[in-house]
Amino acid sequence: MEKRCNSCNLNLTNDKSATSFKCPECNKEEVCRCGKCRKLGTVYVCKCGFEGP
Ligand SMILES: [Zn+2]
Ligand SMILES: [Zn+2]
Repeated sequence: MEKRCNSCNLNLTNDKSATSFKCPECNKEEVCRCGKCRKLGTVYVCKCGFEGP
């Protein structure tokens, strides 16, 4: 399944600096972020409503 950045919806397939991790709040949903959003510290929003830097 292709991964997309939770913040900007960018396809992460070719983004080497992208990261993904389990949401620290619900520990269920996977949060994906592209390299750009990591750098900028863009806020992500999980499906459970958790917002993180
Ligand atoms: Zn992004
Ligand atoms: Zn969550």
